[in-house]
Amino acid sequence: MTPDEFRTHGKQVVDWIADYLEGVESLPVRSQVAPGDVRRALPEHPPEQGEDFAAVMADLDRIVVPGLTHWQHPSFFAYYPANTSGPAILGDLLSSGLGVQGMLWATSPACTELETVVVDWLAELFGLPEHFRTDRAGGGVIQDSASSATLLAILAALQRTSDGAAAVGGLTGRHTLYVSTETHSSVAKSARIAGIGADNVRVVDVDPKALAMDVTVLDRMIAEDVAAGAVPVLVCATVGTTSTAAVDPVRAVGEVCRRHGVWLHVDAAYAGVAAVCPELRWLNDGVAEYVDSYATNPHKWLLTNFDCTVMWVADRAPLVGALAIHPEYLRNAATSSGAVVDFRDWQVSLGRRFRALKLWAVLRWYGAEGLRAHIRAGLAQAAELVSWVAADESFELHEPQTLGLVCFRPRWPGSPVEEADAATLRLMESLNASGDLYLTHTKVGGRVVLRMALGGTRTESRHVRAAWDAIRAAAV
Ligand code: PLP
Repeated sequence: MTPDEFRTHGKQVVDWIADYLEGVESLPVRSQVAPGDVRRALPEHPPEQGEDFAAVMADLDRIVVPGLTHWQHPSFFAYYPANTSGPAILGDLLSSGLGVQGMLWATSPACTELETVVVDWLAELFGLPEHFRTDRAGGGVIQDSASSATLLAILAALQRTSDGAAAVGGLTGRHTLYVSTETHSSVAKSARIAGIGADNVRVVDVDPKALAMDVTVLDRMIAEDVAAGAVPVLVCATVGTTSTAAVDPVRAVGEVCRRHGVWLHVDAAYAGVAAVCPELRWLNDGVAEYVDSYATNPHKWLLTNFDCTVMWVADRAPLVGALAIHPEYLRNAATSSGAVVDFRDWQVSLGRRFRALKLWAVLRWYGAEGLRAHIRAGLAQAAELVSWVAADESFELHEPQTLGLVCFRPRWPGSPVEEADAATLRLMESLNASGDLYLTHTKVGGRVVLRMALGGTRTESRHVRAAWDAIRAAAV
C-alpha cells in the first residue's frame, strides 16, 4: 500500500468509523447471528491474489457488522462498559501508525517516558499516593488487562515473600492467596498461571448485605494457614466487584495484611477511575497506607478503548526483580546506566504497544473536568434508574447500590424462588433478543438479579428511560 493509497483508504476508514458511531444506535445492540453464521459467510481459503481494500470494507459491512454486539451502543448496559471515545481511537490509530515497540527505553524513549507521564498524571487525578509515582520507589505502568495486573502482583508478591527464591528455584511448600466470594475469577486464573494452584486460593466470606470481604474471617484464615505451615502470599481486595460493584474495606484488609506481612493488591478494575471525582475519593481509603499494588481500567469507564489497565506499585523492586532477565541481544547503554525504566520488566510479554498515546489523547482532549463530567453523567443516570426501580412495587432493588451499576429483579409475587429466577432470566433473554437493549445478570444471595451498568460514552438519560420502560412492560 503506497502512502497515497493509505491516505485514500485511511480517510475512508475514519469516515466509516465516524458513520458507525453516529449510527450505532439504529443497530440491534446484541448480535443476532447464530453460531457459525459469520464463518460460513467467509471464504474457506485465503486469497491468492491481493484484493482491493474496498472489498475488505464491503465484507466488513456485509459479514462482520451483523456479527457484532455493539459495545458502543447507547443502550448497551451489559457487563461493565468498555467505553471508547474519538481521542482514544485516534490515539490508538497513531500508535498503530507509528508501530514502535516500547519494550526498552532505548527502543523508543518517548514511548516509555510519555507512559511514565500519563500514569503519574492519572495517579494525581485519582488522588493516589505520591509513592505510586514513577519518580519515587514505586511507579505506574499500562498493562493490557486487570487480569495481567493481578498475575504480575502475584509474581511480585512471591518475589518479596521468598526473598527472590521463587523466581530462581521455583515454589517450594504451600503458598496461599486470599480472595472473597465476590472476587473476579481472573485472580483464580492468575493463581493457576503462577503455579500456586486453585486449591490454594482461599475464599473469604463476605458481609451478606454489603458483599464486602469479612476481615475477621480473613485474619483467622491467614493465622490458621500460617499455623499449618503455609506461606500467605497476597490478599486481593476489590474496589467495585464485578457482580454488584461492592467495595472491600481496603483499610481494614490492609491492617490484617500488615500484621501478617502479606502483599495487598487492589483490583479496582471498574471503580478506580471514578476517584477522578473528589467526592468519590472514599474509594481510595487505605490505599496510601497499606496497598502494595493497585490496578484500574480506563478501558472500562474512562473513555479509553481496550486495552488499557493502569497498574501502580508502591515499590517497583519486587516486580522488576521477579521479571528482569538481561540477555545479550537486549543489552544497551541506557539500561546499563540504570537511569531509565525498561517496561519489559514490568509485564509478561517483551514487546509492548504504545498504549500511552490513547490515554494521553483522552486526558488532553477531556481534561480533568471532562473526565469528571463523564463519570458524573453515569452516576446521575444510575441514580435516576434507582429512583424508578425503588418506586415500583413490582421490583426489588439490590442495596447498597454502588456507583454506576444498578442491580434489581422483578418480584414475581406468588412464584416460588426457582420459578421467579427462571422468569427473570427469560425476561432478560427476551429483552436482549429484541436488540433494543442489552443487560446481563448475576446472583446475589442465591437469587438471580439483573445488572444494568451505566457509563457508556453515548448513553443519555432517554436511553435509560427507554430501557426501564421496556423492562417494566416485559415484567407484567
Ligand atoms: N476485575 C474486576 C473487578 C472486573 O470487573 C473485571 C472485568 O469486568 C476484571 C477484573 C477483568 O478485567 P480485564 O478484562 O481487564 O482483565
